[in-house]
Amino acid sequence: MLLYDDGLFLMRNRLGLDVRRPLPNGFISHAHFDHMAKHQLVFCTPETAALYKLRMGKRPFRLLPFQESVDYSGVKLTTYPAGHMLGSAMLLVEQGGVRVLYTGDFQLRASLTCRQATIPRDVDILVMESTFGKPLYSFPDADESRSQLVNVVRGILLRGNCPIVEAYVAGKAQEITRILSDAGIGVVQHPEVFAISRLYEELGSNIGHFQEYEGHPVPGAAIIVPPSEQRGASIGDIYRQERVAVTGWAVRPDEARKRRVQHVVPLSDHADYNELLKIVELANPKIVLCTHGPREFCDVLVSRGYDARYLHRDTAYCPLEQ
Ligand SMILES: [Zn+2]
Ligand SMILES: [Zn+2]
Repeated sequence: MLLYDDGLFLMRNRLGLDVRRPLPNGFISHAHFDHMAKHQLVFCTPETAALYKLRMGKRPFRLLPFQESVDYSGVKLTTYPAGHMLGSAMLLVEQGGVRVLYTGDFQLRASLTCRQATIPRDVDILVMESTFGKPLYSFPDADESRSQLVNVVRGILLRGNCPIVEAYVAGKAQEITRILSDAGIGVVQHPEVFAISRLYEELGSNIGHFQEYEGHPVPGAAIIVPPSEQRGASIGDIYRQERVAVTGWAVRPDEARKRRVQHVVPLSDHADYNELLKIVELANPKIVLCTHGPREFCDVLVSRGYDARYLHRDTAYCPLEQ
């Protein structure tokens, strides 16, 4: 049912799942660059299609609205909200009585700017991302991280400095905008962030108040910029700035120094270690295939009695398949 060929495919119809090279048919779980490619036909949710068009250009789409099953060459496909960013989807694949759930990137906590994840129960095979698959990556409660962000930004403003918040441009930046806006703090966005925020609004997501950066700081406002390693992130030199990185990796020791920022806030759009364990419990699979994370996470699942393997060429073939 599954096939690994430098990326994961459904064997029956050769539909690629987040495969990063152009294919005749590719499912895209969400509009982050590490999941998108210029497929001849893109399978995705309507929100992801809109974000894809903005970031990658126009393509023919086969739209898969949440929880509306479609048949594609004898395989039933149903998307479920993944809670990771607007439009982000898990894909439930049903064929010959076997149910496979592919998570893409996900989180179980409720986001302020997209739908919370819904997990189909009792699947046979769970293919899951496990980015934060170590106990170290246990995030604080979402409300606690949000107040920490607000407090850090307020502190910077009180010192008379300019808060520059580094965040991934699609998803994280909009979540931060909503948090700061709800706290009454002004938000100015780098143009790359602004373009995506406008589209979020068009798609019905309430991300609060924000404006585009016009070459100078605005008193009392934070500036949201892409992480410094991203191309085009520069907004020029701003006098008396303090930088804040907002990322799940912030729970690692010494992260602020490594990122050359003054502050880090542990707020992620990925599942933390406990949520990774939780989704396995909820989906209750016979087999778990892990991707994107540390291999130790598979060992943890094995020690808990699951048939868990790290996804690669030899493990994608499962005994359940026909
Ligand atoms: Zn992502
Ligand atoms: Zn990803």
